[in-house]
Amino acid sequence: MPYNLTAIIAWSADSLLLAAFLFPLWMRNRTRFYVLYWIFALVAQGLGLALLMVAGSDPLRLVGLLAFTFLISARALATAGLLSLYGEDRPAAFTMVIVALSVGVGVLSRLAGVGSAANVAGFYIGSFAVAVYGFYFLSTRMPSIKLRFRRPLLTLFFTEALVAVAFLGAYNFQTSPPSLDSATTSLAMISGFLLFSAKGFFAVWLTVERLESDLRDLAFSDPLTNVLNRRGVIDEIEKMSHRSAKTDQFAYFSLDLDDFKGINDIHGHSVGDRALVNFTNVVRQCLREKDIFGRTGGEEFAIFTRVPDRRTAAQIAERIRSSLEATSFRENDRILKMTVSIGVTMMRGRIGDIETMLTEADRALYKAKGDGRNRIVFYDATQSAEAGSTDRDIALAM
Ligand code: GH3
Ligand code: MG
Ligand code: MG
Repeated sequence: MPYNLTAIIAWSADSLLLAAFLFPLWMRNRTRFYVLYWIFALVAQGLGLALLMVAGSDPLRLVGLLAFTFLISARALATAGLLSLYGEDRPAAFTMVIVALSVGVGVLSRLAGVGSAANVAGFYIGSFAVAVYGFYFLSTRMPSIKLRFRRPLLTLFFTEALVAVAFLGAYNFQTSPPSLDSATTSLAMISGFLLFSAKGFFAVWLTVERLESDLRDLAFSDPLTNVLNRRGVIDEIEKMSHRSAKTDQFAYFSLDLDDFKGINDIHGHSVGDRALVNFTNVVRQCLREKDIFGRTGGEEFAIFTRVPDRRTAAQIAERIRSSLEATSFRENDRILKMTVSIGVTMMRGRIGDIETMLTEADRALYKAKGDGRNRIVFYDATQSAEAGSTDRDIALAM
């Protein structure tokens, strides 16, 4: 038995088996379309290879055309599976175009009487198109994909395009039709196997990464307002603190909506919920992208931001306070207004004890409530007997 044939049988069986293993994964969660793409890719590959084994006995070479159509579909679907991991729906249309292209080349050359060479040529032209499209798609349409994936993936697509061109050159289409048992075909199969495996490897890597980041988002964000939750705020503060220099100065704001119980009592709990969402929108407009903002409790929020000085912190807090005061929300033909009290504490360098920082801000907030609400109070260790003042606090309070 020709050795290439042995490889084809093994590879075909392997592909179909893998597709069968993936099937339960798709059934368990039918929103993960990338799994479906990979199942189709593996089935197409398994069928394509199986047909390739019997293609030689078909004098019309139609089985060969079908085999290569499946094989190019497998390549397009595998690439689509990778690209759709980041929620793009274009890959489906892209797959159709590639398949149509390779079938077109195959049929046209068949009509021109080129025979089996046309199928192989069609496959590599399609393959080149798949790679170029993958490269283009990745470099222009997937800003969300992380840099450490982007470079290796671009390299993979680039290699795939190069390999396609190389085999278009290596097969001498004019003089001898491609034979299943040539050395060129062996090389073609090895490179095809490696490219397909590399895509599979990336698919697993990207999937794990994506599931992890989905889990992180779930654990660290507040479902109602979509901002960070308490854990998320603390985690982000720790990260920002690690990246900071000793001289960096930060402000931590503890915000609490005033008389929020009254809003619930007058308008109902669902209006209260929407008011919380509206509040986060107002605050977001007063902050920069990199500021940390989250909901730490029912109607309590926190902001952590790098500031050049205390005055800037006061300006940010005042911007939030006055924006909210000036905003009217319409709810069931009624006008709803809210105010917020803000306690602020300043920090320098790496934040050692986050809990202390939160306590200080809460003390200041408590004072703001006591002073009549809708106002900003800075934590001042010199005036807070029980605060356990440190040199840093005193320096900042001055
Ligand atoms: P203060 O000015 O002293 O902060 O008065 P307050 O009424 O805002 O304070 P209090 O802590 O007494 O009440 C907080 C209210 O916030 C009570 C609770 O019903 C409401 N609340 C907490 N979480 C939610 C929520 O998720 N949705 C809604 N609608 N209300 C909430
Ligand atoms: Mg409260
Ligand atoms: Mg409140």
